[in-house]
Amino acid sequence: MQIDQYDVIVVGGGPAGLQAALTLGRMHHRVLLLDSGHYRNDPADHLHNFVTRDGTPPAEFRALAHRDLDEYATVERRSVAVSAIEPAGANAAGDGFTVTLADGAQALARRVVLATGVRDTLPELPGLEPLWGNVVAHCPFCHGHEFAGGHVALLGAGPHTPRVALMVSRIADRVTVLTDGAGLDEPTATLLAGAGIAVRADRVSGLSPSETGATVSFEDGPAEEVAGIFVTTTLTQSAPFAEQLGLAMLPSGGIEIDVMGRTSVPGVYAAGDLAHVAEVPMAFASVLTAASAGLVAGAACVADLLAIDHRMPVPA
Ligand SMILES: Cc1cc2nc3c(=O)[nH]c(=O)nc-3n(C[C@H](O)[C@H](O)[C@H](O)COP(=O)(O)OP(=O)(O)OC[C@H]3O[C@@H](n4cnc5c(N)ncnc54)[C@H](O)[C@@H]3O)c2cc1C
Repeated sequence: MQIDQYDVIVVGGGPAGLQAALTLGRMHHRVLLLDSGHYRNDPADHLHNFVTRDGTPPAEFRALAHRDLDEYATVERRSVAVSAIEPAGANAAGDGFTVTLADGAQALARRVVLATGVRDTLPELPGLEPLWGNVVAHCPFCHGHEFAGGHVALLGAGPHTPRVALMVSRIADRVTVLTDGAGLDEPTATLLAGAGIAVRADRVSGLSPSETGATVSFEDGPAEEVAGIFVTTTLTQSAPFAEQLGLAMLPSGGIEIDVMGRTSVPGVYAAGDLAHVAEVPMAFASVLTAASAGLVAGAACVADLLAIDHRMPVPA
């Protein structure tokens, strides 16, 4: 069976993978970009906080990226999921990786860029999921300004609650922390009270869409109308490749990379929400930083391949 061979296979067609493919395409490397079509910001109508693209629908962002990539003859895009990646051992392309697609096809790559992102698990609350991405948000940089002048709630009481509440209080007219039955420690309660942020400890029973945004219902007491509500999600890797390849992981659940996007396995790079350097507690998850990480990983692949093909030292 004929197996296609590439310099680099990029797995994931979000901002990280799209940019990695562009960087490699501009260097005329033969690149295959594989995309299963599930993007982290799928539920959001618009993306924000990306200069020149503030307010762009995510699908439009990807369409623009595809138009850019289609200018480069050495970049091939396929809408298919990858099911496995394994070291190929010695082969015609040199040591590299065999990438198996969900349709059973296989391709060989000298280098692999993982850009498969992370998955959000939402807090369990009736009515929350349909509002996720627009009225229910997780990041004030992405969705915050959109709630300007309104009443904004934060659901739950975690370590980041005071910081997020204070950030949002700059934008919203009124902020309420809904602890959902949990208590707040004294310093946090004092800090929030000092900033004019209300705290409500009643158990939250559900959310429903309303004209202003959402109605929050409680087991006891009156409902609250909000323009937006912030939640904390649990993040997990979207794809099994870190495990399949035995990559070193960080306590956050992210793949450990160095500043050039190299993982612990030579030849495997990672970029975007799924990976970060050990010096920071978690990936700075945004469209712009994911794209930036994709550029770095793509450039690192270029340096790596040059070093192999021309017996040059790999830049530190
Ligand atoms: C609701 C919401 C709203 C957001 N809004 C903003 C915003 O306004 N501004 C902002 O900067 N950031 C925003 N973010 C964060 C932003 O979406 C992420 O930081 C960014 O998408 C990360 O890009 P990525 O390329 O790492 O991953 P993703 O964009 O998640 O892309 C992952 C890619 O990997 C592919 N993939 C996964 N598994 C496989 C597989 N097995 N085979 C092949 N392909 C696979 C997927 O199909 C997808 O193409 C938001 C996040 C959420 C959850």
